[in-house]
Amino acid sequence: MNFLEERILKDGVIKPNNVLKVDSFLNHQMDIELMDRIGEEFYNRFKDQKVTKVLTIEASGIAIACSVARYFKVPVVFAKKSKSINIDGEMYIAEVESFTHKNINKVIVSKKFISDTDKVLIIDDFLANGCAMQGLISITESAGAEVVGLGIAIEKGFQIGGKVLRNLGYHLESLAIVESMDPENHTVEFRETAVV
Ligand code: 5GP
Repeated sequence: MNFLEERILKDGVIKPNNVLKVDSFLNHQMDIELMDRIGEEFYNRFKDQKVTKVLTIEASGIAIACSVARYFKVPVVFAKKSKSINIDGEMYIAEVESFTHKNINKVIVSKKFISDTDKVLIIDDFLANGCAMQGLISITESAGAEVVGLGIAIEKGFQIGGKVLRNLGYHLESLAIVESMDPENHTVEFRETAVV
């Protein structure tokens, strides 16, 4: 079992509706040493890809993306959830359905920050149905940039996102893949992945 799987077993809380809460160490209170290990691990997995930008989506992807970007020594860009309808032509826009809130957000990235010479590593905390990742891929590809990898801290392998993205040919690396989780017995099972 790797360090993230161990931490999920220790401090993760299984909620109804296939939600795993990790707010004591990943996306509300944050364990910065753990973040740093996550950043280093993604660096090791993607270091040959000549990454020029790390892209994520607000809010909970940002901290992980910063940790990754520190290893690559490149900037982080995060897609903003925009409520404004006055979006001008200077933005890339994608529609993303929120897994946790079930609403649809327009997410935007300024055209200033991704260009056709960029090699983009997309990072997020969770992968469920893949809507957030698809939105970020669409923004990257609208810019003419290359998606060189997708890095996910926790993939829920029983939901469809991972399968779809791998079938599309993207290089997806998830540090922990939850195969099943049971809110009544508080059990989590992981898919076998590389030990890190
Ligand atoms: P997807 O777009 O793949 O359906 O869902 C991914 C997004 O929803 C992530 O950005 C993450 O913030 C949120 N999310 C999905 N599943 C979970 C979960 O089980 N726990 C938490 N905390 N967030 C989740």
